[in-house]
Amino acid sequence: MREIYETRFLLRKRVGSWVEIGALLRLVNTREARVVERESLRSKEVSTTDFSLLDYMDEQVCYDKLLALLHPNGLACPNCRGKHRLGIHRRYRSPVVDYQCATCGRVFNAWTTTILEGVHRRPSQIILILRGIVHAEPTARMARELGCSRRWLLAFRHRLQEFAQRYLDRNPLGDAVVESDEMYQNAGEKGIPHKDPEDPPRRRANSRRGHGTFANDRPPIVGVVGRESGEIRLDVVETASGDELEAVIDDTCLEGTVVNTDEWNGYNGVGKRHGRIHRTVDHSGPKWTWAIDADGDGVREVHCNTLEGLWGAVRTFLRPFQGVSKWYLAQYVAVIQWCRNLKAVSDEFLRVLLGIPPSTNFDP
Ligand SMILES: [Zn+2]
Repeated sequence: MREIYETRFLLRKRVGSWVEIGALLRLVNTREARVVERESLRSKEVSTTDFSLLDYMDEQVCYDKLLALLHPNGLACPNCRGKHRLGIHRRYRSPVVDYQCATCGRVFNAWTTTILEGVHRRPSQIILILRGIVHAEPTARMARELGCSRRWLLAFRHRLQEFAQRYLDRNPLGDAVVESDEMYQNAGEKGIPHKDPEDPPRRRANSRRGHGTFANDRPPIVGVVGRESGEIRLDVVETASGDELEAVIDDTCLEGTVVNTDEWNGYNGVGKRHGRIHRTVDHSGPKWTWAIDADGDGVREVHCNTLEGLWGAVRTFLRPFQGVSKWYLAQYVAVIQWCRNLKAVSDEFLRVLLGIPPSTNFDP
């Protein structure tokens, strides 16, 4: 007891009044509390406290799924293509087993020569990444759940999504009537380091209205929808100029197609090419006037409702990312086109993400 009094006395001598000492102690406490809080937040990012699905996933089931996706005709030696004389070499990474081919001696596993070669992740993690791409899961959240680096995951995601873009269906729509429209997506240079203060990395809440361009971080996305098939084609372009819009229509529509658009003058040349008929919808008036009666038969048939719905879906898909880099926007848009046209996520699309071209005939 005496010691305590002495310490207090010393403290008082050095620091000042009891009020001052109390304030000082509180300050130290709150500072410490803040440091502790910050560190616990940081450790949360590393060892996730998210309710992770990983703990409930069966590695063997995930491995079997990936094996079937990557090797639909069964696992074969990547060197001699032999399937029948494969012995187990080692199984320390089970269920990812290393095999050795008795014919040529090559040691390999199911990931060898695929996109997953050198990706040291558990099968369940790969499955969650594929699911995350399809479900527009933000990279940072996925990295937390998987316990991996966000930077690595973003690079890996871009490698997978690049396949979605490369193998996109670019055949013209078979429909006699299509609708075409464009939207403008705020997309800066997220993720790219910018050291020049004159050249900011991205402008949040880009306030430009109306017709943006790729250069001013509001790239146009052009959409074409088949009225009958409901199939879509999406394209990210530099500017919504006549040349670029006509090029998109040329790529996505057959000769003689009826093309419905709004009155943006970028579409003015569309009807003058390849026997196409161009009809416009005036969006400036009240909604009931949007559909116009073009041929005078009393039916207001020209409208762009399908695309209005599509833009809603595109915005919903992109929103969780809180901005994507404009350099990768086309990849994300490609994923949307795949998902929209397939209606349900199929093995074909998962294969595409893993780098296997579509419409390969897997049947013997
Ligand atoms: Zn072999």
